[in-house]
Formats: sequence, structure tokens, C-alpha cells
Amino acid sequence: QDTLEMDEMRHLTQKYDQIVPQDVKRFQDLPLCKKTQRGLWDAGYQFLTEIQRESIPLSLQGCDVLGAAKTGSGKTLAFIIPVLERLMSMQWTALDGLGVLIITPTRELAYQIFEILKKVGKYHDFSAALIIGGRDWAYERMRMDRMNIIICTPGRLLQHMDENPLFDCTNLKMLVLDEADRILDMGFQDTLNAIIENLPPSRQTLLFSATQTRHDLARLGLKEPKHVWVHEES
Ligand code: ADP
Ligand code: MG
Repeated sequence: QDTLEMDEMRHLTQKYDQIVPQDVKRFQDLPLCKKTQRGLWDAGYQFLTEIQRESIPLSLQGCDVLGAAKTGSGKTLAFIIPVLERLMSMQWTALDGLGVLIITPTRELAYQIFEILKKVGKYHDFSAALIIGGRDWAYERMRMDRMNIIICTPGRLLQHMDENPLFDCTNLKMLVLDEADRILDMGFQDTLNAIIENLPPSRQTLLFSATQTRHDLARLGLKEPKHVWVHEES
């Protein structure tokens, strides 16, 4: 990052505390860096959905967030945007290694997240990998040690944690649990616990699901999370 970008980020992060969600209509109304703004614009995203408006300010501020909104309400961008901004504000580089882990229940969802990340993050220089199994272990294994962002399914991630000496999450700053309820419904509770035990506790955690969760989220290591629940329109 050059000095200009560092100044830009310093300026933007100072505005995080003053965001008033009701006043935010367009992504342009948010203090996001130029690279992210251009990515959103090119992808045709202009107006925020409700879950995005309510949760992105909190996530930018560094809070743990527990967000619930029905399928199709735009939860992916609600975490992709803070992921990009947090890495930018920390001046994350290839040398810093893994900064963000995004865990989702299925390969299909992981693919979709990866596609949106590539689209919206196209002006950023961060590296990202899909770790979802079903393909070459050696290939995945080699790629892992150079990645800033990993999008994965729980089983495959734990396998890398256990068996791959190149996997290093000591620098991790952010954990995203997408479709957390479905992860737990699918019986991944133990896997998830084992993963979380391996992560540095000083991270930020963002948890999203389609329903208000019935599961015990305290065990997922959220710290005084802000609850954002977008009601169904009646
Ligand atoms: P969820 O994860 O809540 O089910 P997604 O993140 O998959 O929802 O988004 C659902 C659809 O809405 C996707 O096609 C996505 O591109 C689109 N979308 C998300 N946010 C916006 C937005 N702010 N403006 C327009 N379309 C959006
Ligand atoms: Mg989703």
C-alpha cells in the first residue's frame, strides 16, 4: 500500500463510529475505500439491503456480530465488505498470511462466496482460496500457506489444521461463520469447536444465519455480540 492509501484508510476508519444506519442508502454513503467502492459499482451494487445497512457499520467498528436475515437478503456482501475493509485498514500484505477464514456448510455456498469476493474485490490485491475438498489435496495444501482469505467447508478445514504443516492461522484477525445454523444442523458442532480451539482468541467473529439461532453460540467464541435481526416483511 502506498502512503496515499494509508492516509485514505486512516481517514475512513475515523468515520466508522459516526455512521448512522438509517442515513445510509447507497454503498457510496459508507466510508469504504475506493477499491471496494469501484468493485461494488462495477458489479452493479448500489443500494444496501437491510441486513447490510444494519450490520456493516458494526462489523467495520470491529464488533462481533450475530446477524439473522432470510435467504436472499444479501448476507454475503454483509461480511465480504468488512473483510476487505479490515484487511485494508491493517495494511495486510501477502507476507501477513492468513487474515480471514470464512466457513460455510456446503461447497456450492463456498463457490458462490468466492465468486462474489472475486467480483467485489477485483481491485484489491489480497489472495483468496477455496478449501472445499473434492479435489487435489496436494494442490490445496500447497496453496494454503500463501493465502490472505480462505473460504472453506468445516470438515476440509479441520483436515488441513490436523494434517497440513503449512496451515498457519496464528495471524488470523477475522472468522466468518456463514449459514451457521445449517453448519450446526448438519452435525458439524464438534468439527467447529475443534476449529475454533485452534484459532487465536483475539479475533473478530461475524456469524450469519437465515434464522435466529437455536444453537448454543457462546461456544463459538463470540464476545458480547451485537444482534442484528432483520424481520420478515409483513
Ligand atoms: P443470502 O446469503 O442472505 O441468502 P446473498 O448474499 O446470496 O443472500 O444475496 C442474494 C442475491 O442478492 C444475490 O444474487 C446478490 O447478488 C444480491 N444482492 C445482494 N446484495 C445486494 C444489493 N445491495 N443490491 C442488489 N443486489 C444484491
Ligand atoms: Mg448466504
